[in-house]
Amino acid sequence: MTDRYAVVGNPIGHSKSPLIHQAFAEETRQDISYVAIESPLSGFAGIVDAFRREGGRGLNITAPFKLDARAYATDLTERARMAGAVNALKFEGERVYGENYDGAGLVNDIERNLGFAMREKRVLVLGAGGAARGAILPFLEREPASLTVANRNLAKVEALVTEFSPYGHIHAISYDQLASTAPFDLVVNATSASWTGELPPIPASSFAEGGLAYELVYGKGLTPFLRLAESAGCARVADGVGMLVEQAAEAFLWWRGVRPATAPLIKRLTIPLV
Ligand code: NDP
Repeated sequence: MTDRYAVVGNPIGHSKSPLIHQAFAEETRQDISYVAIESPLSGFAGIVDAFRREGGRGLNITAPFKLDARAYATDLTERARMAGAVNALKFEGERVYGENYDGAGLVNDIERNLGFAMREKRVLVLGAGGAARGAILPFLEREPASLTVANRNLAKVEALVTEFSPYGHIHAISYDQLASTAPFDLVVNATSASWTGELPPIPASSFAEGGLAYELVYGKGLTPFLRLAESAGCARVADGVGMLVEQAAEAFLWWRGVRPATAPLIKRLTIPLV
């Protein structure tokens, strides 16, 4: 019997998840269907209830429902609990398991695909929203020399750092303080600034020569953030297409017990950074 999966969001028309999961299923010979479902903004729980009643096995969750999905889950993994958000659900009888693979997908892309080992490196994350929160634990597990998080809203990033400090060396910083701080080997833009063509107020001096700059937004070519990184001497710049495919692969493995290959899809979905 064909097992049913879907991604839920609003809007959802742009989602690449159906294409990605159908390609995974074909490659691994799994008998699944995967569609995109647009949920009304205040109707998430009803949409998920209906999907489960019809035999649905699992869901990916995208904006703006990651907090609703967290509330809906009966069982949260440590990662999902600390991220404060859920991007994948698995249904088993009455139980609803909630996971968050955004951070793991990001680490896989940085370390495996881009060949950048985070251990002993100085790492800077811009932003303190859901995506940044999801990255913190997986980043700390890689044992960087330091993990610094900058955000416009300083109180928000200070609260985040306090919450995560039992897990490793993590510091909050204001954008103003970055000018007097040593450069970082890896700078991750986990803000949504690039959607509107904005540049988070980061100085060029924050990028270490020869380092890596990673933009979570994907498909927008060289964003102002990536342009600044290049002009500051970063050896490599990357956008979030690899993260998207890698988090999908983690969810697929969780649901189906088989890991699909990611490289062909990343290649297929990559829009050149020019
Ligand atoms: P949130 O809305 O939760 O957080 C947005 C963050 O961006 C906040 O920290 C906010 O700062 C900051 N911000 C927004 N505009 C600016 C600006 N002009 N300058 C500086 N900071 C700014 O979003 P998410 O954390 O969920 O997502 C962040 C980005 O990551 C999105 O663009 C999303 O598309 C992308 N993403 C990509 C994924 C992938 O697979 N590639 C997966 C998940 C997310 P403040 O708190 O001060 O308002």
